[in-house]
Amino acid sequence: MKNNFEFWTHFAEFLTYLELPPRSDGLETNPFSMLISKHFASKIKKGDWNDPLLRQVLPSIAELREVNGFEEDPVGDQESVQEDGILQKYVGRVLVIATPACSIHCRFCFRRNFPFHADPTLIPRLDCWLEKHTGIHEVILSGGDPLMLDGETFQNFVSVILKQEHVNTLRIHTRIPVTLPQQLLNTEKQSHFNCLQKAATQKQIVFVSHVNHPQELDDESHKVFQNLREIGITLLNQSVLLKGVNDNVQTLVALSHKLFEQGVLPYYLHQLDHAKGVAHFEVEDIRAIQLLNEIRNLLPGYLVPRLVRELPRDGSKKPIV
Ligand SMILES: *Cc1c(COP(=O)(O)O)cnc(C)c1O
Ligand code: SF4
Repeated sequence: MKNNFEFWTHFAEFLTYLELPPRSDGLETNPFSMLISKHFASKIKKGDWNDPLLRQVLPSIAELREVNGFEEDPVGDQESVQEDGILQKYVGRVLVIATPACSIHCRFCFRRNFPFHADPTLIPRLDCWLEKHTGIHEVILSGGDPLMLDGETFQNFVSVILKQEHVNTLRIHTRIPVTLPQQLLNTEKQSHFNCLQKAATQKQIVFVSHVNHPQELDDESHKVFQNLREIGITLLNQSVLLKGVNDNVQTLVALSHKLFEQGVLPYYLHQLDHAKGVAHFEVEDIRAIQLLNEIRNLLPGYLVPRLVRELPRDGSKKPIV
């Protein structure tokens, strides 16, 4: 676990580590850099271009193709911006881009083209905004990955949220349990875990992990989820349906089972958002629906995720039927 805070950022070195032959994938001109936590990389099978974890993180020439209908801002995030970093699209819930930093650059990311920047004024601005918007009952810390913030800044975000009486739920959207679990296994005084433990005595906390394949889940993610459950946090998972990663019945069923073994319920299975550069991950709706129907026959209802698509200018994520 000592390598947990290290990242692969160099394409050629990463291929050597994976015992794969060198190749060039237009990385020099790819605006979305390569970033892979070594912990995540350790779960990739060596010598296999088709490894489902590798496919999520390896930059590819396909990303540079212009494809009709794949845009900079596929879900209308920009229209939902209330203020820099504060997005409200749905009634009662607000989403905060707490940091641009991620622990991993997922090649299919819908915010890959988002004009991110770190902003020290966000915490006081969020405080004011929440004071004025008393109809908000849930604040979602997203990003980037909010758990990439240092412990003190994370604590400051959580504090301005906890002090709002009308806010009863704090939600965290994160990939940390499978990318940098150490960030949540550390239980020192100033740690993220400690902060969540205190917060959980005051508000409902919903922790939404992002895991797409059962191979991402290991003993460390299990420990993270166990710790969070022990302090009364609700654990949900969202996945993105991805061609060549999890677009088969066996994988989706195994993912639901393994999440449940680790104490997490599947929440959403997202149809890919049409961000520029991600077209090669697209699974047709008709295939997605077929997959869902098949897994529904093999799983208890509570382990079947909701297949949804997010659309600009819509009041909720839309079920696909
Ligand atoms: C997805 C999303 C939410 C949360 O939606 P739920 O259906 O409650 O999970 C909130 N705000 C924004 C901007 C979102 O994209
Ligand atoms: S925002 Fe989430 S999906 Fe996008 S690159 Fe970061 S961790 Fe991956």
